Amino acid sequence: MAGMRRARPAVILACSLSLLAPSLTPLVHAQTQPAAPVSRGGAMLSDNALPALGDTNSQALSPAAERRLGDRIMRAVLHDPDVVDDPLVAEHVQLIWTSLLASARLRGDITEDLDSTYAWSSFLVRDRSVNAFALPGGYIGIHLGLLAVTRSSEELASVLAHELSHVTQRHIARLMSQSKQTSWLSIAAMVLGALAMSRSPAGAQAIIMGGQGLAAQGQLNFSRDMEREADRIGFGVLTEAGYDPNGMAQMFELLAQASRLNDDNNFPYLRSHPLTTERIGEARSRMGSSGLDPVGQQARAVTEVRQVLDLRQALMSSRSRVLMDSRSASLQTWLQPVALPPASKPVAVLAAHYTNLVAAVALKDRARTEVALKLTQQDLQGLSPAQVREARRVLTLTEAEGLVAMGRAQQALQLLQHGGASFLLPDARPELILRARAALSLPEAGDHTGMWADAASRLQTLVTLHPQDATAWQLLSALWGRLGQPLRALRADAEASAASGDLQGAIDRVESARRRYPQAAAGDLIELSVMDARVRTWRQTIKEDAREDLG
Ligand SMILES: [Zn+2]
Repeated sequence: MAGMRRARPAVILACSLSLLAPSLTPLVHAQTQPAAPVSRGGAMLSDNALPALGDTNSQALSPAAERRLGDRIMRAVLHDPDVVDDPLVAEHVQLIWTSLLASARLRGDITEDLDSTYAWSSFLVRDRSVNAFALPGGYIGIHLGLLAVTRSSEELASVLAHELSHVTQRHIARLMSQSKQTSWLSIAAMVLGALAMSRSPAGAQAIIMGGQGLAAQGQLNFSRDMEREADRIGFGVLTEAGYDPNGMAQMFELLAQASRLNDDNNFPYLRSHPLTTERIGEARSRMGSSGLDPVGQQARAVTEVRQVLDLRQALMSSRSRVLMDSRSASLQTWLQPVALPPASKPVAVLAAHYTNLVAAVALKDRARTEVALKLTQQDLQGLSPAQVREARRVLTLTEAEGLVAMGRAQQALQLLQHGGASFLLPDARPELILRARAALSLPEAGDHTGMWADAASRLQTLVTLHPQDATAWQLLSALWGRLGQPLRALRADAEASAASGDLQGAIDRVESARRRYPQAAAGDLIELSVMDARVRTWRQTIKEDAREDLG
């Protein structure tokens, strides 16, 4: 695969606030010696002299202001085509993320104020480098490359728990309060620059360079103390969520291996999180003192849950490996039979064949899809009953995805409705999204009103619960169009624009609806008044965004 790698310049993206100090040389984070005091806004601050939040520093960013800042950044970031929504991978990340959030709440790491103010939301980035980062306001970005290398749910959870702890400890606000010059626009430019870097190194160079003045003045980076704190608190969050405490040490070992291979271009996480022997040692000693007994009673009780989680992790890791680089030449390489050591575990064999399946589906290669499906079906034999159920669900959804992609929507819908009746979850997001996609792929000429109406009403429930779900709004808009409800279609289209950060686009859509339907039917009046209220909110937000400061 080495030849397939995208040539990419070094870019520091990892661990949120390194975003504020992007550097084209890996100087800032790569040092393994204790950091020398750095100059911040004229004052000399050593890493050990962190002002405590709230008591000494009255200018610290309030949680509400930090959330507004995060929202502004996200509105810019969500436009990026490399921010991807793969319902299956997203569901897996969400499951782990939710379990960590619950643990952090129980531990009291998330205060009531932070709980209701922050977004606590994760998003996926199509990028093959190994990275995860926290943004202001409780947003966490996760590269598909990270999912591709993590071998167990504990490893993934340990990285997310670390990032989550940067958020709960308000490390971002502490850093921002030290840099008066930092405007939200420059932070957004950093994030976008780093994302664009993966596609067009030359173009991104300009954005990154533009922000360098800020980097030189601000030098915002999580300090060693903050990293240590995120490790310590993250470990508590991880283990109290029920994950094997070995996860963190194993993740460090994986990163250590990469650093021995000098592969840090593909491991930006290593640059923001240099692996000192101290850090690894601390993770190991915490493991010893956690009081958790991974082979004891407690662990046996959760064996089944862990088996299912590890199966999901293996499959989603395979899926991410394929999806992290969508160029056809890269996809082709994943069609090759995977050489597995003899006596590989059944889950590993299934995951290898699933890699072939996802690639075949992405390439719309019907023959290879069928071959890969057959292999994966045979692999189910060595799994536990709970694992078989979970595997069948993922395989059925992937098969249906392939059928839709290859123009066989009717078969996809049959598979989704009858083929997998016992193990599919009719109201889970991956099922809802896929069923809507399949229904929309049916020929417009035919009468599929029942199918469209069913998909629309289920999606309507989904967006009521998750109004930021741009994918769902987009599909809903198309479905209302098919169902002859143009005003509802326009409103859903506007919501889709707003949810993906384009507020002006959302306003334009509503205004065009106003022009096209000046005499609304009585039933449309409510729809129109909802739209007007939404437009007022969006206008207000645009006005606030235009301000450069962080107020
Ligand atoms: Zn960190």
